[in-house]
Amino acid sequence: MVQAITVGTATAKAGTIQYGRWDALSHPTGHTEFLPVVIAQGRKDGPCLWLTAGIHGPEHGGPTVLYRLLTQELVARMQGTIVAIPALNPAGLRTMSREPYHARTDPNRLWPDGKPHKDDPDKRPPTSLEQAYAHLFEKMVEVADYLIDYHNAQTGSLSFVIRDRVLYRADQHAEANKAKAEVLLAKQEDMIRAYGHTVVNEFPVDKYIDEKLHRSTSAAAVFVGGVPGLTVELGTGHMPDPAITLAAVAGTRNIMRWAGMLDGEMEPIEGIPIVDPGFPTRRCSTPRAEQAGIVLHLVKPGDLVRQGDPVAEIRDVWGRPVGEGVVRSAFDGFVIGRSHGIYYYPGDPILGMAIRDDQPLLAPYPADFFKEDKATSA
Ligand SMILES: [Zn+2]
Repeated sequence: MVQAITVGTATAKAGTIQYGRWDALSHPTGHTEFLPVVIAQGRKDGPCLWLTAGIHGPEHGGPTVLYRLLTQELVARMQGTIVAIPALNPAGLRTMSREPYHARTDPNRLWPDGKPHKDDPDKRPPTSLEQAYAHLFEKMVEVADYLIDYHNAQTGSLSFVIRDRVLYRADQHAEANKAKAEVLLAKQEDMIRAYGHTVVNEFPVDKYIDEKLHRSTSAAAVFVGGVPGLTVELGTGHMPDPAITLAAVAGTRNIMRWAGMLDGEMEPIEGIPIVDPGFPTRRCSTPRAEQAGIVLHLVKPGDLVRQGDPVAEIRDVWGRPVGEGVVRSAFDGFVIGRSHGIYYYPGDPILGMAIRDDQPLLAPYPADFFKEDKATSA
């Protein structure tokens, strides 16, 4: 007996791939924005893995991985169910823009944060998209055992996993909450190991909340939904790298093996650099340009960097050195990706780096997080 799962108009059918639509929101022109739903189900019962992609319009790597992964051949040998949504932000994908034109905000910061909604007549109520994600989230929490959300970082950047920190409420049930969070963190670690790509931790807790990253697809799944989840980054977004696509498909199948959805040996992750500097790292946009100028990068994604190493030349528009003529790394770590272009204003980050991380992976929410006056009213 296999699990009965319906998402929108798609209903799982053992041994098949089913296709359907999940109605998300209405446009003023009378059109309905639906999210495409693909449900692949094996003939034997097993876990339910949610795979989501396309929440950022210029990031075409995730949908590509899903189209390559979901084959009849996979269904014939899998147990359990995959629910895939390859276009979480259809308007952004149509226009290749990060933000959809009908909700001018980063859509990957709109998932539920566990706070009660507070009506405030002076603030805009949640957009149709935020409401749509809230409804979809209910469905996801109802049926999903695990989640992977696929993204892209910079052009030419590494393929890597962003490990979410796991936050728990330090209320009267703090011990029990912490114990649950520890279980989630351990499962997340198992998923990361099975996937087998480079690993970089998310920002420290304060920055995490400040950037609303606790409202990303994977963080909401973990913190609010209790569903172990990962964000994976697949290098270049506007022209997916076939090697990263294959490595991500293999990594996803390895997570399925770990989860008991596929038999057989783990597949080797090949054709992409996998970087391990020997210490835990977190992502950081660094170094930043101190003066306006032309930046000529001296390092490439995957390079190990030590504090003080030159990572870029900086010149004026005539090509003459500005100051010392080089920008140095302030940290030990490695290069995830180079910022796009060569023309930089002061404060612009030159690299996406993974730098040494000494912050805990498990932490209580900040003390004032659930205070009523901090209720969300996006
Ligand atoms: Zn993204």
